[in-house]
Amino acid sequence: MAVKKIKTVYDVVCPFCGTLCDDLEVDVADNKIIEVRNGCQIGTKKFFASNPSEHRYEKPLIKVKGSFKEASWDEAIDKAADILVKAKRPLLYGFSSTECDAQSKGVELAEILGGILDNTASVCHGPTILAEQDVGVPTSTLGEYKNRADLVIFWGCNPVHAHPRHLSRYSEFVRGYFRKDGRNDRFIVVIDPRNTHTAQIADLFIQVNPSEDYELLNAIRAILRGVELDEKEISGVSMESIKELADKAKSCNFGVIFFGMGLTQSLAHHRNIDAAICLTRELNDHTKFLITPMRGHYNVTGANQVFTWNTGYPYSIDFSRGYPRYNPGEFSSVELLLKDQIDASLMISSDPASNFPAASVKNMFKHPLIVIEPHQTPTSENADIILPPAYAGIECEGTAYRMDSVPLRLRKVKDAPKGILTDKEILEKLIEKVKEKKGE
Ligand code: SF4
Repeated sequence: MAVKKIKTVYDVVCPFCGTLCDDLEVDVADNKIIEVRNGCQIGTKKFFASNPSEHRYEKPLIKVKGSFKEASWDEAIDKAADILVKAKRPLLYGFSSTECDAQSKGVELAEILGGILDNTASVCHGPTILAEQDVGVPTSTLGEYKNRADLVIFWGCNPVHAHPRHLSRYSEFVRGYFRKDGRNDRFIVVIDPRNTHTAQIADLFIQVNPSEDYELLNAIRAILRGVELDEKEISGVSMESIKELADKAKSCNFGVIFFGMGLTQSLAHHRNIDAAICLTRELNDHTKFLITPMRGHYNVTGANQVFTWNTGYPYSIDFSRGYPRYNPGEFSSVELLLKDQIDASLMISSDPASNFPAASVKNMFKHPLIVIEPHQTPTSENADIILPPAYAGIECEGTAYRMDSVPLRLRKVKDAPKGILTDKEILEKLIEKVKEKKGE
């Protein structure tokens, strides 16, 4: 039996979550992933998902009388361009699990079509961006936190499950230049309504009432200013615990707040983040303190960056007047779909059918739907046209932005299935065809 030749690719960046771990080692034989070292379970699974399987699309598909039929690229692109050109208000959504050049092509296509351009920030850290635009943000890189932070607060996030290697690479167990004893040199606080697995390994767990983070943040700010609050507890947290936390924060050498969707998507939304940023800023009267969002999709930060370079705005952009207008809430995908104001959609590298409200998904499925997606999802299964791309960061190179806005180069570790195009190439073909149909 012939011995398989194994190629090992080093320093691979994991294209799954916003931690963008850049130390993976991937073994490839016969153009298949056979081993991934250093990755966590969810990151490793994505590499294996790129191997041929019954769930992977390897040809463009067009729905004819309720079932998918294989099509040539020319035919599928022509039909997709037809749908987009005929639509009065097409939505282009997703973009957070692909690389920056493809995102830029998405902006170009949305502008040519006069459509709506949105990315997944509109359902995750959009409120973070709104708050940062309002009050600025004192922030830094994950490397700084690794080397310096001795107080780490996880607020409304659960990295043990959502960003598994964040703790061992940057925030909890890792040894840093000034934190030589790793975990023993750090005090970890978790603030969350749920007793999560991250809470269970913290030094201090503060269980806040659901959707009462805003009150707690402002209570800490008041205590820092020396205000005596005439209450026994706030947001379900005793005054003693709030004072203990304020003292810990004031007396550390270098503190950081990492926050997640527990803060961005609970009742006060961007006002929570506004208060968290102001708290961070005020803590700098006592010590060094910074704040960083725990971004989910591996390149959602890149999507915000690329949209902003091109249009001035990070998400929820409307091109219907020929120039970009920004108004989250009015031009956000979920709201537009709920009001049934979209008459065709192009979904790229995302699965809105799995996480948008049912009523908006129902309206999305009423109108023509094109997806650029490598494998079966609830969105793709209900599409009219499926354009299957190569996996960015596995089957093609590109750039992605880590959660702290540090850009990293994604590596190619294997070839895409024969004939498969990259996200960027598919979007370029769509742009060309749309221009042709519009006579531009
Ligand atoms: S923590 Fe995130 S980036 Fe790192 S290996 Fe796991 S999924 Fe990939």
